[in-house]
Amino acid sequence: MTNLAPVIQVLDESTVHLIAAGEVVDRPVSIVKELVENAIDAASSRITVELSTAHGVISRIRITDDGVGIPSDQVRIAFLAHATSKIRTGEDLLSCRTLGFRGEALASIAAVSYVTMITKPKESDTAILFRITGGEVVECTETGAPNGTSITVEEVFFNTPARRKFLKSLQTEVAHITSLLESFACLYPGITFRYLVNGIEKFSTHGGSDLSDIFRALYPSDAGMMIPIRGRDGNTLVTGLISLPKLVKQNRQRLLIAVNGRLVQSPAMVSAVKRAYGSLIPGNVWPVAVLMLEIPPAEVDANIHPTKREVRFSAERTILDLLVRTVRLALDDANLLDLPAAADEDAQISLSDIPSPAPAPIRYGAVAAAPVSRQVCEATLSGYRTTSRQLLQTRLQESADDATVRDERFPELFWIGQVGGTYIVASDKTGALFLIDQHAAHERVRYDQLKQQESLHLKTQELIAPVVLTLSPSEAGLIPSVLPVLTDEGFIIEPFGQDTWCVRGVPVVLGRYEDPETVREIIGTILSEDEGPVRLKEQVLRLVACRSAVKAGAVLTPEQGMDIINQLSQTADPWTCPHGRPTIISFSCQELGKMFKRI
Ligand code: ADP
Ligand code: MG
Repeated sequence: MTNLAPVIQVLDESTVHLIAAGEVVDRPVSIVKELVENAIDAASSRITVELSTAHGVISRIRITDDGVGIPSDQVRIAFLAHATSKIRTGEDLLSCRTLGFRGEALASIAAVSYVTMITKPKESDTAILFRITGGEVVECTETGAPNGTSITVEEVFFNTPARRKFLKSLQTEVAHITSLLESFACLYPGITFRYLVNGIEKFSTHGGSDLSDIFRALYPSDAGMMIPIRGRDGNTLVTGLISLPKLVKQNRQRLLIAVNGRLVQSPAMVSAVKRAYGSLIPGNVWPVAVLMLEIPPAEVDANIHPTKREVRFSAERTILDLLVRTVRLALDDANLLDLPAAADEDAQISLSDIPSPAPAPIRYGAVAAAPVSRQVCEATLSGYRTTSRQLLQTRLQESADDATVRDERFPELFWIGQVGGTYIVASDKTGALFLIDQHAAHERVRYDQLKQQESLHLKTQELIAPVVLTLSPSEAGLIPSVLPVLTDEGFIIEPFGQDTWCVRGVPVVLGRYEDPETVREIIGTILSEDEGPVRLKEQVLRLVACRSAVKAGAVLTPEQGMDIINQLSQTADPWTCPHGRPTIISFSCQELGKMFKRI
């Protein structure tokens, strides 16, 4: 980010080839995301997002910023495919700190809608008004305007009828945009955001705040149950907020993770956070969190997916360990506050001891952010109380986690036996002890195998007895948008009366292994999580892997056990199952010696 508008150029072909290609704008929320990212990259201090809706669709999106603007001679170039001012060569990707770098968003948006841009760098006396519809430039004139850029997108997807048909219901799409903007507001507390729908302000933030202020104003009833975190390992820094175990959600949508200011989806990080809570929260719920990682750009690869929401790290294990440590430390510290001992259930704390929050520098709707209520404080305290007791359990678990294998090379193991019908006991030539979760290990093996059979989802198996799903109205509202993806994956799903759908066929791999309940489970998961086609495919894979893997409780012969070990050693990531749980725990001779107090 710089304060001078840099020169926009079309990337040369060899650089274009290095960039993950594909759709960037497939729905209104992705248009908003790209345009807000552009405004952030333009060093803006104020960003206003306005939506208008009409006839059940989003009819206009306008984003106005006070950033660097685009010089008049470059406006046309900005709308060309692969035109960017943010990188020049593939090498620049290694040091790239901007959210954009592909130079595709403006071109893609202009191809599927009517765009009007008014832009003025502060060095220019006049602004440029540029209109482009369906990729055709229709106007480019001088005009007067304040410094910065305003871009209006209308008739969204006017020329892509299929997509328009499958767009989510208006309410859902607006909800997605709202939560995206809430995330941006949390990640960029220094920027003043304003968000309006049909002229009515939904929220606004005041730049110069910090994350806690923004969070308190956006989510007043949750804020009292959040604690700050901070941890560092070398050049990697993690900061943010995590919820006390008392505050959990049914899905992961409120577990925000950002790497260098970019929102990312990282199942590995989500499960690291989950792992850090250990037994403090049940397995099927997620904490609320805003986790902001700062990692040297050269160690992060954001260029593996067109939407850049997936990233890869060169030191993934170190980062995951840092996350686990930092979250645990914060939970532990919360417990050390001067609060009653766990056993002292009746101890009273004066509510006046709890500092009241500073007035929030933000408005949400017409209502001023409420100060933390008595009710919230009480919830917080009871959160501490359970924490205190349950943390003891986590500590035990923690020491087990510390014994997790760190060496990246898979050891050569030999079979000793099986305990509890669940864990394989093995050793290696150094005499270390290994416990392998047979289900988790085999799940990893199955997952890798399924992933390799790329065509698995293309084949459909008709169900003998179709499964009828009765959905809530909001779930039913989501079906049309996930239907194309499900069909792609081999599901046959047909309408069956109001809010009822009939599943007649499933991907062949699923039919082979599973009973109809899985279909219900998969579709239920997809509807509640709604994380897009890529995640959907992942979910199907994971569920099938899980269902087709050897179960805990199954007695294994030594040959079967060794077979799992050998297959596991061939997988891409033998250390965790596809859900992120560990597959192997090891104790070196030295660790065993310590435990027996020999050393
Ligand atoms: P990218 O962000 O990947 O570079 P885009 O297509 O989103 O690609 O934008 C193309 C170029 O247009 C950007 O590199 C930037 O120079 C310029 N641009 C886009 N939006 C803005 C804005 N709001 N303010 C200033 N410049 C902008
Ligand atoms: Mg961009």
